Amino acid sequence: MVNAHQRQSLKLELRKRYNLCSYCISRHLTVGRGRLSDDDFDRCFICCGLMNRLDFIIGRIEETVKEVYEFDTFLIGTILPPDIYEREDQIRARLKIRGKESIKNQLLNELRRKFEIITKKKVDYLLPDVSISVAVGNGMEVNVAAKARTLTLAGHYIKKQRGLPQKQTKCTQCEGRGCGFCNNSGLSGYRSVEGIITHQLMCLTKSNAPRFSWVGSEDQNSLVSGEGRPFFVRLSDPKVRFLRNNLNIDTPEIYAVIEARPKCVPQSPIRFLTKTKILVESANTITENNLEDLNLLNNATVQFQNKDKIITKKIYSVEARKIKDNRFELTLLADGGFAIKKFVSGLQNTSPNVSKIVGNKCESILFDISDVNMQ
Ligand SMILES: [Zn+2]
Ligand SMILES: [Zn+2]
Repeated sequence: MVNAHQRQSLKLELRKRYNLCSYCISRHLTVGRGRLSDDDFDRCFICCGLMNRLDFIIGRIEETVKEVYEFDTFLIGTILPPDIYEREDQIRARLKIRGKESIKNQLLNELRRKFEIITKKKVDYLLPDVSISVAVGNGMEVNVAAKARTLTLAGHYIKKQRGLPQKQTKCTQCEGRGCGFCNNSGLSGYRSVEGIITHQLMCLTKSNAPRFSWVGSEDQNSLVSGEGRPFFVRLSDPKVRFLRNNLNIDTPEIYAVIEARPKCVPQSPIRFLTKTKILVESANTITENNLEDLNLLNNATVQFQNKDKIITKKIYSVEARKIKDNRFELTLLADGGFAIKKFVSGLQNTSPNVSKIVGNKCESILFDISDVNMQ
């Protein structure tokens, strides 16, 4: 403990040896402020006037954040030039001062307190809606940057038109990170389910390139109906984060709903079942008897060879309906990620497979997704 006498001599010593501003004194002594007038702030041995620029820094933060970001909570962090700490350490070592608040903490506390008052928003140390970083350079120049916490939303889509790919190829300039060339979307265009949803979400939230987690995938020529295919999308640095209503996207190609409430992406891999209608063409005529044999597949487990791994997927139900001599429709309820084309053709040692059961070389020429259910 420092006694009154020691405190007095420390005070004298500090004042004799160093020019310090009221903030830099107050970190070392619990005495009244103001040895230096405001004009002298720049001569402060430790901060060289930085602590006199709090309102200026707050102004820069407001410029960066206000009317740009929608937030309830924030956090401010800072990087100061190392020589500020060196000068503070030098004084503390010489005068044997220990365990006092650092200039960084004092600066941050002042900035956070002032910004709370101005914005009526709250500091959150764990999950702030927006993180603000104040970088002070060697010449005391101030750079402010802000970034919003990633927002994850859930949605599902129906595909009404054939020929639209589910996923969009990446922008060749930035390989998906987002650049001026792709308007920050990270995509090569907007002609896909991913492209259409990305465009709408970026317009609404002003985020950077969204990242999708799809619950399964389909062919470019597949339709998706029923409740639609679920997906999750992560939006980095969204300027708008509180959606009042669900977002409905209705174009000639798709209908998608994105829920206004934020979600978490479930543990990967996401378990789901898919109901698929498959149009099958056979090399020769198929009889009703051949198709009845397909009932063997109810509750069967199918083995797929993927490189040197065997993947098993379960079929829950299967129904076959003859359309004409060499065409029939299969309605299949099976585990998600079921490789339809291999299952029909029997390629790559897929077992059991449709070709073998009906005794005829078969091929899937089109398949549509009737429903996707997450488990
Ligand atoms: Zn100072
Ligand atoms: Zn790009």
